[in-house]
Amino acid sequence: MIDRYTANLDKLFIAIEKARLNISEHHIVDIVAVSKYSTTDEIEALYNAGQHSFGENKIQDMKSKSVSLEHLPIRWHYIGSLQKNKINNLIDLDPVLFHSLDSLELAYELDKKLKQKTKSMRCLLQVNSSFESSKSGVVPDEAIAIYQDIEKNCPNIILVGLMCIGANSTNTDEVARSFKTTKDIYDKLESATVLSMGMSDDFELAIKHGSNLIRVGSRLFDRGEV
Ligand SMILES: *Cc1c(COP(=O)(O)O)cnc(C)c1O
Repeated sequence: MIDRYTANLDKLFIAIEKARLNISEHHIVDIVAVSKYSTTDEIEALYNAGQHSFGENKIQDMKSKSVSLEHLPIRWHYIGSLQKNKINNLIDLDPVLFHSLDSLELAYELDKKLKQKTKSMRCLLQVNSSFESSKSGVVPDEAIAIYQDIEKNCPNIILVGLMCIGANSTNTDEVARSFKTTKDIYDKLESATVLSMGMSDDFELAIKHGSNLIRVGSRLFDRGEV
């Protein structure tokens, strides 16, 4: 019998496959399962269905869930905003990727603390490509300069690309525009290889605009519309 997590993953794979083949057969898309509303039992069930990367947006939740699930070699992604007083906590959690580095100031602070602990962290620069005041991220016009500043001055931060959250709109053109804005910046960054865009409701559109890492929560965990 196929359990519902396997079925949800299968459905997602089929949708991704369709979207990515429209770009190129060489365009590979990775999935982060966003587990912020899910219990450790649900995470373990999805892990057993074959999904091994998970994302959390609160330091405390990532800590407690990663401790409870220590027996599984889960790859934890941090996708939430990071307060300065939590930087050391994030470093200790050692995420495989921090998606939401959202200011130069935070980058300098993070780099300093990484240095003190002789550690490094793979990060994405978050771009506020929808220009929504509720969203964090650097403004698109400044993204390249800030990216290069971090590359030059923050040796303990390994910048590997960009992240954005699609415009919060029912207008597909507006959502597409926010993805395209981020992709245009990404294309100008020679060293960038990761473009984290797309969630349950807009990952197909994000892939169409070049995303190679999608962050999917509700679709995998049966929350809200599937
Ligand atoms: C919650 C969240 C997601 C996943 O959203 P769903 O709509 O549940 O797929 C993706 N990215 C970020 C940054 C989030 O906070």
